Amino acid sequence: MTAGKFIEIESLGKEAQELIRESIEARKMAYTPYSNFKVGAALRCNDGTIIRGCNIENSSFAATICAERTAISKAISDGKLKFQAIAVAADMVNNLITSPCGVCRQTLAEFGDMSIYLTDPTMTKIVQTSVNDLLPLAFRLNESIN
Ligand SMILES: [Zn+2]
Repeated sequence: MTAGKFIEIESLGKEAQELIRESIEARKMAYTPYSNFKVGAALRCNDGTIIRGCNIENSSFAATICAERTAISKAISDGKLKFQAIAVAADMVNNLITSPCGVCRQTLAEFGDMSIYLTDPTMTKIVQTSVNDLLPLAFRLNESIN
């Protein structure tokens, strides 16, 4: 893996550990009657608050929203615009840790770089990465690559 590194939860500070645990709690609220693939997210705002999000499926699949974007939507609608980190908890698939989809990467990039912690619900595997690592050269309106 080049876009992140595996770490032990004990190697993280108290705030990051709390954020990861919050993402696991958020996962329990996921609404997933179609896939049963539950994802939780916990977003640390610059004011220290944590906003939870979960994935919300819909029978019209395109209307489904991911946990990361649920958390961002809740935060923005509460007037929070600056973020330090996000933790995302999901089951591993084929022994691989689940990472944010492309749409979520672009959504997160809108608000600048931040740390990203990816975990399975048991915290057996944790990956530390960042928005810039997962989405280099993110799209920005009226900006081009020099
Ligand atoms: Zn997504």
